[in-house]
Amino acid sequence: MKIKRNVSLAKHTTYKIGGLADYFVDIKDLEDLKQALKFADDNSLPIFILAGGSNVLFSDDGYRGLVIKINNKELKINGEEIIAEAGVLMNDAVSKSIENNLAGLEWAGGLPGTIGGAIRGNAGCFGSEIKNIVKEVTVATNNGEIKLYKNKDCQFGYRDSIFKHNGEIIMSATFELQLGNKESLKKVVFDHIKYRQQRYRLPSCGSVFKNCFLKDGSVLSAGALIEACGLIGKTIGGAMITKEHANIIHNFNNAKAADVLDLMNLIKENVEKKFGIKLEEEVQLII
Ligand SMILES: Cc1cc2nc3c(=O)[nH]c(=O)nc-3n(C[C@H](O)[C@H](O)[C@H](O)COP(=O)(O)OP(=O)(O)OC[C@H]3O[C@@H](n4cnc5c(N)ncnc54)[C@H](O)[C@@H]3O)c2cc1C
Repeated sequence: MKIKRNVSLAKHTTYKIGGLADYFVDIKDLEDLKQALKFADDNSLPIFILAGGSNVLFSDDGYRGLVIKINNKELKINGEEIIAEAGVLMNDAVSKSIENNLAGLEWAGGLPGTIGGAIRGNAGCFGSEIKNIVKEVTVATNNGEIKLYKNKDCQFGYRDSIFKHNGEIIMSATFELQLGNKESLKKVVFDHIKYRQQRYRLPSCGSVFKNCFLKDGSVLSAGALIEACGLIGKTIGGAMITKEHANIIHNFNNAKAADVLDLMNLIKENVEKKFGIKLEEEVQLII
């Protein structure tokens, strides 16, 4: 384990935005994590847990502390279960499940980021969420102790889990899948990837805002609200609200974090004024 100095966060995020982290470390196992936590404690540094960097917006001023990148990547199949370390890319887990004729993960074809990031935010798309297949999750507390959570204890909700609130570090998870047909699973994944390529421009962080759940149980898509405000194509600096998907802010030309934030504020003001709805961020702001 090597603690590096002055590492560009832009290089570790799908937004390609972010200044330098004072300290940065890749951790490959629990021992590395414990050493990193001790280093932060000894030097009174705040820590930030980073994984695929596909749901974060860092400040252009960087991060005054230790960024811990989760890079444990073991992936095993046990019958109809997949046991994946938190740093495994979702796409690798999807491929492995299909190779083994296992169904249940195909909705995540093309989903950026890692297992750990997806569990923390209960990632979802195409009508599924990761909570539907999680059996159990292993975490490390911030003093490096290991704890096991069963699915029912993870408090999964829309883009939410207990791990968003308790600061514990997800180390691995077991997923329960079912036997499926490799060829039809491949086709579903291929279609999802194609759909994403047409709708999600990169560099970006995917959806910036959460959808809105109304009291009567109906759901309003944040994208539809933004579109109805006539904001499609709006640019500030190097950031743009995309025409393919109004809930995506694309870094089309060396955008600053401030450009993205200004567009986010413009969206929030317009949506609140027109619909009386306060949009809530899905992207994690480290500003
Ligand atoms: C083009 C594009 C399309 C997207 N489409 C979707 C979509 O359809 N559905 C969807 O839900 N999301 C989508 N996203 C958002 C993103 O892919 C997910 O939120 C993803 O699960 C984030 O994982 P990550 O590993 O990149 O996490 P990061 O961005 O690295 O981190 C996100 C948050 O999780 C925390 N975190 C990460 N790993 C751990 C860990 N091991 N333990 C504790 N905390 C951790 C971080 O501290 C941070 O607060 C999209 C993003 C992009 C760029």
